[in-house]
Amino acid sequence: MIRSANIAGAGIGGLTAALALAQQGVEVCVFEQAAALGEVGAGLQLSPNAMKVLGQLGLNAQIDAVAYAPELARIKHGVTGRDLVRVPLRAQCDRVYGAPYLHVHRADLHRILEEAARRQGVRIETGATVTGYRAGALLVDGSERHADLRIGADGIRSAITAQMHPHHGPRFTGQLAWRGTVPTANLPKGLIPPDATVWVGQGGHIVTYYVRGGQLVNFVAVEERDDWQNPDWRQQGAPADLLTRFAGWHPDLKTLFGAVQSTYLWALFDRPELPCWSDGSTVLLGDACHPTLPFMAQGAAMAIEDASVLVRCLKHRAQDVPAALGHYTRLRKPRTTHLQARARKNAALFHLSGPFGGAVPKLKLFIAGHFPDRLGLRPFDEVYGYDATTAPL
Ligand SMILES: Cc1cc2nc3c(=O)[nH]c(=O)nc-3n(C[C@H](O)[C@H](O)[C@H](O)COP(=O)(O)OP(=O)(O)OC[C@H]3O[C@@H](n4cnc5c(N)ncnc54)[C@H](O)[C@@H]3O)c2cc1C
Repeated sequence: MIRSANIAGAGIGGLTAALALAQQGVEVCVFEQAAALGEVGAGLQLSPNAMKVLGQLGLNAQIDAVAYAPELARIKHGVTGRDLVRVPLRAQCDRVYGAPYLHVHRADLHRILEEAARRQGVRIETGATVTGYRAGALLVDGSERHADLRIGADGIRSAITAQMHPHHGPRFTGQLAWRGTVPTANLPKGLIPPDATVWVGQGGHIVTYYVRGGQLVNFVAVEERDDWQNPDWRQQGAPADLLTRFAGWHPDLKTLFGAVQSTYLWALFDRPELPCWSDGSTVLLGDACHPTLPFMAQGAAMAIEDASVLVRCLKHRAQDVPAALGHYTRLRKPRTTHLQARARKNAALFHLSGPFGGAVPKLKLFIAGHFPDRLGLRPFDEVYGYDATTAPL
């Protein structure tokens, strides 16, 4: 096994990799550009495939303490509020996939990962910007930081990816997401269903669910826009604009948005499939190599799976790190590319796109709405049923 690793980026992917490596006795240092560690004030869906990895890392109890287990995956019509699809998650996931489906606040998961990583001896340097890599070293604020392995877990604007693949920059998908949380206590009782709910509509969709044991309602409101001029991909949004943008939607959503105190707008980017994810002993993971539209709630889950498979490959082929990284890429790329494509397809389904007022997505939702419980979950078997901790290498 390698003795030391330097990681660019202390996001969910970087910290999961740091913890997994440190548990194998590797000396790990993580460089994070932000002055302080933290995550955006929004929720995250942790599907069973992600929970299997986090469970193996020993984090089940801490996550359980801050999570919310949704009853159903539910699709509703965004204007009428009519139920279109209902699939039991709480009753089925543990039994069918061997792990639960949970909702967490990102900051809670981030804190849990950070604390576990530090306990395991991981060093985290904040205010440390990675600008690239050389054989044997990460370049951090003008100095070379040496380690046996370098990991680019620095997200969609990755400096490591930019150096490895200068012609494969991120591209705007024409989708904007408003996100934020509202204290449940500030809303009428029972306003938001206790589910992972997708409210579908023409040209947009809204996701609602509870986090922090039910204390907060998280929302993501997606709209199609081709007028994004801001070179930044994230900016503060005005709650009044959010209300205006979704004015024609169901009254319960308007009540929810009326209680929003602060919201951020995210321009959603992805990038073309990269030819490879490693260069010598430098490797990519998470959004740095496969940013995924959030319409399958799988981006962070894929970063978490990457970390697990990467560490297993390094153990398995301990004598040849570049070969281990090549093997990791071959194992991971088909799955992440497939999920990126599935997420893109969901845009058309959730936004009722296409001729005749979205007749095809409406028909698909109608059919899905008539599947009995287990059958409704079946399309997700390949996603949630996967176990990165035991998948054949
Ligand atoms: C609206 C929305 C909803 C989503 N919902 C879900 C969901 O429910 N479930 C799910 O699984 N996924 C979801 N995702 C996707 C998920 O957020 C991402 O896939 C995940 O955060 C990627 O993790 P990462 O660690 O690869 O990258 P990031 O989270 O982007 O972390 C990268 C880190 O690197 C740091 N960094 C960047 N550049 C440098 C540098 N040069 N030097 C040092 N540090 C640097 C950054 O500051 C950051 O801390 C959602 C995404 C969006 C936009």
